[in-house]
Amino acid sequence: MSEEKLRCDACPVMCYIAPGRSGACDRYANHDGELVRLDPLTVIEGGGPVVPFLGRDWNGDIIQGDRPFVTAIGAGTTYPDYKPAPFIVSQMVDDADMITVVTEGIFSYCGVKVKIDTDRHIGAECAIVRVKGEPIGHVMTGEYGSKMLSLGGVDHLTGGSKAEGRVTCDALLALCNREAVEMQIDDGVNIVVQAGQAPIIDGVAEKLMRVGCGSATIGMFAKQWAPHVDEVIVVDDHITGVLTEHEAGKQLDMRPAGIRVTGRRSTPGRYFQVAGHGTGWGGTDVTDPLTIIKKIDPKIAWPGLRLLMISTTGEQWEYFVLDADFTPQPAEIPDPLRAIAERIADNCEPSLCSVLFMGGAGGSLRAGVTENPVGLTRSVKDALTRVTVGGAVGYVWPGGGITVMADVMDMPSNAFGYVPTPALVAPIEFTMKRADYAAMGGHMDRVRPVSEVLTPAIRRVRR
Ligand code: SF4
Repeated sequence: MSEEKLRCDACPVMCYIAPGRSGACDRYANHDGELVRLDPLTVIEGGGPVVPFLGRDWNGDIIQGDRPFVTAIGAGTTYPDYKPAPFIVSQMVDDADMITVVTEGIFSYCGVKVKIDTDRHIGAECAIVRVKGEPIGHVMTGEYGSKMLSLGGVDHLTGGSKAEGRVTCDALLALCNREAVEMQIDDGVNIVVQAGQAPIIDGVAEKLMRVGCGSATIGMFAKQWAPHVDEVIVVDDHITGVLTEHEAGKQLDMRPAGIRVTGRRSTPGRYFQVAGHGTGWGGTDVTDPLTIIKKIDPKIAWPGLRLLMISTTGEQWEYFVLDADFTPQPAEIPDPLRAIAERIADNCEPSLCSVLFMGGAGGSLRAGVTENPVGLTRSVKDALTRVTVGGAVGYVWPGGGITVMADVMDMPSNAFGYVPTPALVAPIEFTMKRADYAAMGGHMDRVRPVSEVLTPAIRRVRR
């Protein structure tokens, strides 16, 4: 080993770094014989009036106001864990003497939860999500207008092959830093996910998030439809709605139309499983809506009956009139019905991907904050200590430990790093009153005023 190499001790990899080179994670470098953190410490500067922390009118946003907030981005890590966090800063906020402890935590126990606003079927629940052929997570539940993915987690990072861990870590890092990641879902679609952007599913950018399920859409627009049409069927992968049979149609005294759709009837006017999953109308595999009509009862229906079939986003619709043989024939849609279809689309929100980082800070990371780690956990549970991730307010899960979740869109860009163990490096800050920090056994001898860390080398981000 060359005498000139420096040994970085900021993570378990313990790189030897030659002069002028950086370590395996590109976060630390040997600069003229000195180990330096390559990214500047990031400070968020707010605008507007100062809101006292824990004050009566406090709205939960600890970095609101014009005071600088020292994030953990670029702060560096401490390893092994008993060393105090890199920055423990104090500042007065009105009359409150506040402490913020910042550190870049090395998270082996972490992942992301992804919400994808789409009607389209992307894959079955529990289907494996892959990047470059490696499993990095799975499909979770379908929510109201969205599909959920769970990606990463300790099993993918450490429990599989070396390639699985590396690819998982790379994908998590890119997603958390708001970059695009292309994924393949087993027996499902190819999808490009990027926080704050529309998902691209099998090469097509998604546009709209549904206004509601088929049944809800019937309820919302029944009164507007009733004067202009005899039947409306809203095609939906989950709950297809049939207007005249639905409670909304009944309350509007609509005449039964005698049109029965495929699938399983849940309650009047609400049908499950009218077709297979897919990327067609309302998340079904339907491209021709008439294929979900099971029968038209000639004793109830009548020639000239006006039928509108429409998807949950209003993007697809077709209008028919029954001929003398009770067969639906395509017809010119009346202007009022076209306007309602456009209104449904207008009521849909833009389709986006949301990426929430989720990690467990309940382990050894706490020792960098206090000599009595459980004191920090209790202080967080008692709402005396606020947890932020790169300045973004974190949601702390109930139960044991400090399992925190935060939206990557609320953080400055490039807030995350990695180490090749593999693990994600995520910024985490704990803010509390000085008295509460002392009471939990905090490293009081390491507290320094915020003015000491506000150097010209700092990266400033305005909020
Ligand atoms: S991977 Fe990065 S943090 Fe870990 S020892 Fe190497 S340079 Fe230091």
